[in-house]
Order: sequence, then structure tokens, then C-alpha cells
Amino acid sequence: MGIINNPKTDPNKILPMTYLWARQHYKDGVANNWVPEEISMQKDVEQWKSDKVLSESEKRLIIWNLGFFSTAESLTANNIVLAVYSHVTNPECRQYLLRQAFEEAIHTDTFIYCCDTLGLDPDEIYTMYTRIPSIKKKDDFVVELTKTVFDPAFVTEGTENIRKFVHDLVGYYVIMEGIYFYAGFAMMLALKRQNKMVGIGEQFEFIMRDESLHLAFGCDLINTIVKENPEVWTEAFKKEIIELIMKSVELEKDYARDACPEGLLGINSEQFCDYVEYITDRRLERIGLPKQFGTENPFPWMSQSTDLTKEKNFFETRVTEYQQGGNLDWD
Ligand code: MN
Ligand code: FE
Repeated sequence: MGIINNPKTDPNKILPMTYLWARQHYKDGVANNWVPEEISMQKDVEQWKSDKVLSESEKRLIIWNLGFFSTAESLTANNIVLAVYSHVTNPECRQYLLRQAFEEAIHTDTFIYCCDTLGLDPDEIYTMYTRIPSIKKKDDFVVELTKTVFDPAFVTEGTENIRKFVHDLVGYYVIMEGIYFYAGFAMMLALKRQNKMVGIGEQFEFIMRDESLHLAFGCDLINTIVKENPEVWTEAFKKEIIELIMKSVELEKDYARDACPEGLLGINSEQFCDYVEYITDRRLERIGLPKQFGTENPFPWMSQSTDLTKEKNFFETRVTEYQQGGNLDWD
């Protein structure tokens, strides 16, 4: 018994399954299958080239988000394939990780597509994670806090190592995919609500649906490891995790203020900060930790299209109808 360190696990023997949630996340991912080329960039290109539609600060906000996501997607893909996959030997979880890696490739492709269609300078976009301090600090924070799992000598055996593994999984799944993506999602969807850059907005909606599942899988993985190895989940360790998450929130707020400094879109950057607090509380609760802010959701429209408390609700309210095989079944 055990999702990690299980001597009885045969990675090639997927049936019968133990962790049916992993299977469900896999199927939910497949049901949201998409590729960026299905979404037209025609109107976006016109708006981008016209000087009447987008203000300079709106253009800057778009560039900032493309700059962050274009490289962050590769960073997550590398985390999955080079680090998480080797330590999670359970076959149904590996099946999900393969799916997730594929989705990260689709996301990486989305930003190639955006750069190509809008005619952006790749040297500008793909160096922002080293040049723009508010982006660099987020990426550096995640790289630093997930160093252990990248050590080729690292193994997950023993309480201290399991704790390190959980710590790094929180870095990947809760902080990177669960917090760092969401101010950007809210900004791009706020633009879309004003009929600006709707093609990119729709692509961000698809990405968000995928990311909601990545986050859900990551939290289920963390919760299962903790449940099976309760000795790792000490008060001191919980405190350490909460502190890490709170530090990441500060960096995400700095990013939001930098990307959206002037209160464009009828929304000021403090509302994006409130949104970060709101989603952070929900991430904390998802892994059994107390919420820290109690902030109300400033963007109720986001929870309809992005925030998965109830996946069912989420898919029922989606703007774009697209699914493979018509087999969505949330009950
Ligand atoms: Mn992604
Ligand atoms: Fe992801």
C-alpha cells in the first residue's frame, strides 16, 4: 500500500487501479482536448495592429503575461518530466503525468502561436523571465524551492525525504500552477470581457481549465502522500508550508502591480491582489491548511469560467463548447 515508496508497485501494470481520482483527472483532461490553431487570431491581429483599440498599458499587460507564461509553461513541463515523474511510480498517476506533460506542450505551443500571429519579437518575449524583475522573482522562487527533487541523488524514502518531496510538490502544483498563473488569467479574461484580444482570451480559458485539473491532481497527490505518511505533516511543517505560500503571494502581488499598474480595464491592481488572496485561501483549504486572508472574490465572473470548486459548474458555464467524444460526465 502506498502511492510512493511502494515495493509492490509495478509501473507497467496499470490494472487494477488503486487511485481512481488519478484516472478521473486523466479523463477530465482528455475531455478538454484542444489545440491553439483551432482558435482564430484574426480579430486579435487586427486589434493588435490598430492604434485605436488597445491602450499602451493594455499592450504592456498583454506582453507581460505572454512573457511570464511563454517560459513558465516549459518550466512546469520540465518539472513534471524530469523530477515528479521519476518519483511517482504508481501507474495511474504516471498516466496522468503523461497527459499533463502533453498539455504543457500544448500550452507552450499556444505562446509560439501567439508570438507568430501577432508578429512579436521572440527575443523580447522569451527573455522576459530573465529581464523583468517581477517575473524573474517568481520563477527564481519556484526554482529555488523545488531544488531538492531535481537532485539526481534524491530518493523519497524516509520521513525527512517524504517531507522534502511534499514541500517541492507544493512549490510546483500549489504555488506555480495554483497561484502564479491566476493573476495573469484574470487579467487576460478581463480584457476578453471587453472584447479585446478574444482569441488569446479563449486560449487562456482553455489553459485555465487544464491548469485547474493540474492543480487538482497535485493537491490529491499531496493529500494522499500526507494521509499515507501522517508523520510528515507536523505542526512545524504545516507552518513552513504556510509561510512559503504567503511569500509566494507577495511575489504574485508584485507581479500584478507591475503588469497592471494603472487601473486599466476598469479594474485596479489591488483588485487583482485581492483575487490572489482569495484563490490562495482556496488552495490552502484544498491541502487541509487554514485560510489566511478571508478575502472575498472580487471577480465572481472568474469563478464561473475558471475557478474549479465544482468542475461540473465550470463546464456548464464555459463559453466555448469543445470536447472530444461527448463523454463529459461529472456525476
Ligand atoms: Mn500549463
Ligand atoms: Fe500545468
